[in-house]
Amino acid sequence: MWPQLVICLTAFVFQGDALSVLMKWYEQPLHTLSHVQWEALCDGCGQCCLNQLQDEEDNLYSTDVACQLLDTDTARCTDYAHRSERVPACVTLTPDNLDDVYFMPGSCAYRLRAEGQPLPEWHPLRHEGSKEPMKKAGYHVAGHCVSEAKFKGDLEDRIVTWPLT
Ligand code: SF4
Repeated sequence: MWPQLVICLTAFVFQGDALSVLMKWYEQPLHTLSHVQWEALCDGCGQCCLNQLQDEEDNLYSTDVACQLLDTDTARCTDYAHRSERVPACVTLTPDNLDDVYFMPGSCAYRLRAEGQPLPEWHPLRHEGSKEPMKKAGYHVAGHCVSEAKFKGDLEDRIVTWPLT
């Protein structure tokens, strides 16, 4: 009886290891990712760098008006290392503040993984780093937003839904 039990446990452990080897690293739980993997999970869509509006029922609405630090042609932050100091409202997402992930866009890689969902088919990690599928799918804000530094008007007039169609 005992030897049989040991064999079963060994088989179980082996299966667990084999499963984790077969899984892509981005399919692993968020809290197990290294810092480099955590950073690489970001798809670079830039949606989290757009101003949002919140109604009385806490519903969030994206606009196409971007943070002053966003390069609107590339959707890259122009001062990523100092973004939190320069823009206090900018949330630096980490494994320790995942409660804030629900303020992120529905297609955000961190939000999807925190909810146990797979990355979308267009995610750059599924295309050797290429952002082209994401652009074609309408999730990349590059070229589809204006900087708040240049914007004059009412944000309520700039509500958009991603993906753009
Ligand atoms: S929305 Fe999420 S995946 Fe997209 S750029 Fe922001 S943090 Fe990265």
